[in-house]
Amino acid sequence: MAYDSENVFAKILRGEIPSEKVYEDEFSYAFKDIHPQAPVHLLVIPKGSYTDFDDFTAHASAQEKEGYFKAISKVAAQAGLQGKGYRLLFNIGKESGQAVPHLHAHILAGRVFSDKIV
Ligand code: AMP
Repeated sequence: MAYDSENVFAKILRGEIPSEKVYEDEFSYAFKDIHPQAPVHLLVIPKGSYTDFDDFTAHASAQEKEGYFKAISKVAAQAGLQGKGYRLLFNIGKESGQAVPHLHAHILAGRVFSDKIV
């Protein structure tokens, strides 16, 4: 799928719509999910234009990948979640329910998830 530069997270990255930023570095940006599914619900996105995890894996540079994965851990640490535990979720494509076609990691925490996926 071609990247749609009018998707909501592309607009957030360009500063065209507001977001509650929690972290930013050269490769990544993180903000609070607007409809939280848990007491902590953060989204971490790469600054590059990638539709989903598969697109990122296939096309991002090694530097972008390292930067993005480290940023996810940093955001979790900054939220006080390392050692406590959190759920990391990527939706990929239509059947997963991915609504925004810009790669995003969901960091979910602050409640017990038991054996359910979400
Ligand atoms: P997904 O279903 O994996 O594509 O998740 C998209 C997520 O983006 C959902 O959890 C939405 O609540 C969240 N979302 C959509 N628009 C915004 C926005 N403007 N600011 C923050 N989160 C958003």
